[in-house]
Amino acid sequence: MNTSAQSTKAMALYVHWPFCVSKCPYCDFNSHVVEHVDHGAWRDALLRELAYEVERCDATHLKSIFFGGGTPSLMDADTVSAVINAARTHWKPQGPLDDELEITLEANPGTVDADGFAAFKDAGVNRVSLGVQSIDDEQLKFLGRKHSAAEAMHAIASAGEIFDRLSFDLIYARPEQTEAEWRDELSRAIDVLHTAGGAHLSCYQLTIEDNTPFKTDFENGVFDLPSEDGGVTLFGVTQEVLGNAGLPSYEISNHAKPGDACQHNVHVWQGGMYAGIGPGGHGRVSVNGTVHATRKHKPPAQWLKNVLADEHSTIEDSILTPDARGQELVMLGLRLDDGLDLAALEQATGLTRLSVVSEQALESLESEGLITLSLDSVQTTARGRLLLNGVIGALLG
Ligand code: SF4
Repeated sequence: MNTSAQSTKAMALYVHWPFCVSKCPYCDFNSHVVEHVDHGAWRDALLRELAYEVERCDATHLKSIFFGGGTPSLMDADTVSAVINAARTHWKPQGPLDDELEITLEANPGTVDADGFAAFKDAGVNRVSLGVQSIDDEQLKFLGRKHSAAEAMHAIASAGEIFDRLSFDLIYARPEQTEAEWRDELSRAIDVLHTAGGAHLSCYQLTIEDNTPFKTDFENGVFDLPSEDGGVTLFGVTQEVLGNAGLPSYEISNHAKPGDACQHNVHVWQGGMYAGIGPGGHGRVSVNGTVHATRKHKPPAQWLKNVLADEHSTIEDSILTPDARGQELVMLGLRLDDGLDLAALEQATGLTRLSVVSEQALESLESEGLITLSLDSVQTTARGRLLLNGVIGALLG
């Protein structure tokens, strides 16, 4: 990994679309169910907030675009096209060829058909990430998803016919899930992915988030989750099965054929600059050579109103101190299998590496087998990634 390559001139763009068909009971994302969306007003507002970000930040090059949510496959393809064209006009795509620019759209099965995928491709999208979550009907029902396993398979096949780059998400460590069941589901998912020509899979452990129906159910004993040891075993199964299938991990929850990692997310984890537009979108942008942390208002109606009145809906815009920047680079970099580039950390913060991370902790974590150290990098081992919060806590003191 080389974070030093992450110049403040190269910008990734994140666009948040906050609407969903229904609210999943485990979800704490900024997602809302509404009866009507004024697509014209939303297109106008996204373009205006993008122009505001362009105007103030130092970026000259566009690294990638990611439409996340919510459910961005509910957007008008015309809006997706307008945002992509505006970003490409404002910032020069980075790379020798324009069409190498990675443009990802998250989609949910049941919200987009083959014609819809084709329209998004015409709009400029070249990578789709599908929220499949399980390919088992009973589990989809437990997770409160609106699609069936058959609809998920159909969406994967349909997207695979249209896009060269395809990924989907799965959720594991579900109640009473056994190692054998997860091995079987993963193997079937790999077959479906490969048949569709995909080379990327994201596998997330089910977590219980505050203010969700799952939190209430969990606290009331409606269901139980695997023990910590059970979670460790299922994580190990994920690494083993996907590794053997040619999809090694490149981040805690993300696996890809070598060369097919999500460039947008890797850019962010490596400490690159990104602008976030749309409700709740957050970013790290360089303004006159200083890194700012930015965040937009979350409620969709408030965001829309603010942007139409003021060109943006920023609720936070603060300069990151070198210490704060250093700490977040440690937290982000250690998620990646390639690890944290210590020289890049020094370059980005102007601090010495040992004023950011504790030397004593480095030695002790290495002796515990949680990290490996080389001259200029720190990498977490598979076990270290599983215990990442503890590793980060120790390193940052
Ligand atoms: S579809 Fe995704 S963003 Fe929407 S409620 Fe479900 S988990 Fe949340």
